Amino acid sequence: MLVLRFLNVVAPAYFLCISVVTFVLQLFLFIPSMFKDPSATPLFSSALLHGALFLFLSANALGNYILVIQNSPEDLSKGPNLGPGGEGAANWPDASRTPGSALPGTHFCRLCVRVTQRHDHHCFFTGNCIGSRNMRNFIMFCLYTSLACLDSLVAGVAYISAVLSTSFNNPLAFLTLLPHSISQFFSGALLSSEMFVILMLYLWLGIGLACAGFCCHQMLLILRGQTRYQVRKGTAARARPWRKNLQEVFGKRWLIGLLIPMLNVGSDYHRQKEK
Ligand SMILES: [Zn+2]
Repeated sequence: MLVLRFLNVVAPAYFLCISVVTFVLQLFLFIPSMFKDPSATPLFSSALLHGALFLFLSANALGNYILVIQNSPEDLSKGPNLGPGGEGAANWPDASRTPGSALPGTHFCRLCVRVTQRHDHHCFFTGNCIGSRNMRNFIMFCLYTSLACLDSLVAGVAYISAVLSTSFNNPLAFLTLLPHSISQFFSGALLSSEMFVILMLYLWLGIGLACAGFCCHQMLLILRGQTRYQVRKGTAARARPWRKNLQEVFGKRWLIGLLIPMLNVGSDYHRQKEK
């Protein structure tokens, strides 16, 4: 439990550190180096287009990160109907806060110290539980973090190939880049700033692939109408059309919700709350 609590603090700090480093490298190293390209036209230069794309991706990634925390699942044990003395208190064993999953689909998270409905999993990077309220923001956070990492990887590769005159035409060049760079760094032929950018390339690749994989897996579960918690518990998927499952998370206009991430189209959950 102590390890999990430690991870709950270290993982958000790690995410914020990587975000700050990525911002600094993009804004003060990669984008200014693109402005030096003499063949570029000033108005639609690759630097401006790349800068706009990076800001769009990172704004969506960070915006959804904040929304995941802001829309964290509510504590059912404190709810008006489920709290001690409430309507649902009869269904709640001794109306305490430690029943685990006394009601179907609920789960008691020991890290957040609360009972959440339609619990999916506890995300260490946001330090919050993921449930029906913030699932849409969580998917968007994974998607845009993965795209921002891919964007930084491409910009970083362009920067390194220009600075070190390295060709990445051969796909194996990326695999041999790290061992070559380490030996060059220790022999003094490579600057520490260049070595740092090379290490970041591998980090962006790793985070980008992990987030993309997580996003795809989560989307598959949504289409099946299952949560990660239910998969773990061996609960069968809901027998209903995939469109209904998608609507529950992304709202009735789910396609617009997927294409325009920051637009609040409202999931089924939020509409029920508003009524
Ligand atoms: Zn939790």
